[in-house]
Amino acid sequence: MSGSNGSSSSRAQMLAELRSAERFLLATHENPDGDALGSLAGMQLVLAALGKDAVAYMAPGEFPLPYEYRFIQVENLVTAPPDDLEERTIVFLDCGNIDRNPADLLKREGAHILNIDHHHDNTLFGTVNHVVPEASCTAEVIWDLMKDLDAELTRPIAEALYVGLVTDTGKFMYENTGPQAHQMAAELIGAGVDVHAIYRRIFEGVPQGKLELLARGLTNVERFDDGLLTLTHLSSEDYAATGADPSYSEGVVDHLRALEGTAVAGLVRDLPAGDGEQRRKVSLRATDDRVDVSAIARAQGGGGHRRAAGFSTTMDYPQLVEVLRASLAEQL
Ligand code: AMP
Ligand code: MN
Ligand code: MN
Repeated sequence: MSGSNGSSSSRAQMLAELRSAERFLLATHENPDGDALGSLAGMQLVLAALGKDAVAYMAPGEFPLPYEYRFIQVENLVTAPPDDLEERTIVFLDCGNIDRNPADLLKREGAHILNIDHHHDNTLFGTVNHVVPEASCTAEVIWDLMKDLDAELTRPIAEALYVGLVTDTGKFMYENTGPQAHQMAAELIGAGVDVHAIYRRIFEGVPQGKLELLARGLTNVERFDDGLLTLTHLSSEDYAATGADPSYSEGVVDHLRALEGTAVAGLVRDLPAGDGEQRRKVSLRATDDRVDVSAIARAQGGGGHRRAAGFSTTMDYPQLVEVLRASLAEQL
């Protein structure tokens, strides 16, 4: 492992890798979000523009994608690793640790892996790692690399990268939004991005079941420890009754974070039933500078950013309430 962290040398090394290899397989994290999909689509187009053979891989279980991302056009998409996988350079995008990609096939011994990301807790699992925690999104890291690659910023590339930017910055409102993010936006808009059209695609056209699921999430809100901890949960029954897809809970936790007096907001939701014990996904958001929710998530086998992190667990909601209260008490 060559473990440099978003330095000029890791950038130069990554550029050299991208220039010299000819065949790539691009991958991202499971349950891909806007940055994962935008980075995957954008990087594929960048490599194709350089004359490379680049396939974008997503496991069949990821489909159908969440409705708000279905408009993203991923070229050269495969749902099974190609026969020549062993000869391909694997590029992981927006993936803080390799276990967040379900394909064991990609974890083979001796694989040549490029790791391009912005998670500060990235485990640097790549052969070459270019991890830039200051970047608002992985799409921003790609945009930065593009400045030294011979690929023109076409409208499709700009649109793909904009999806990563607008989603990971919470529409340019999260604390990761710096001058770079706005400079990038300006360039992407200059390259033809229709900001309002993309806003409508991602944030509007909300299915009624999503609104009804939100209503249940808001009804279940509970405050703990003088309101510092604001939690809610969504059960399998909530999903069934509203006809909601698993991804419809996206955004629920942001309403909790916005609540007066909240330092940490959390959503606990039942994951679709599998073979074994019921699994739950916990999404955490912090508003307080003193709190690092990624540390809480890491302690439970997950990870993320200081202000936004997550993990999955088999603990039930009452147990999780106690774990989260105790973890928060350690930090405040
Ligand atoms: P979410 O709560 O799913 O919206 O995720 C918030 C942030 O936490 C994202 O940046 C994810 O990368 C990260 N995250 C969520 N779940 C996990 C997990 N199981 N392992 C590592 N990071 C995660
Ligand atoms: Mn992501
Ligand atoms: Mn991201």
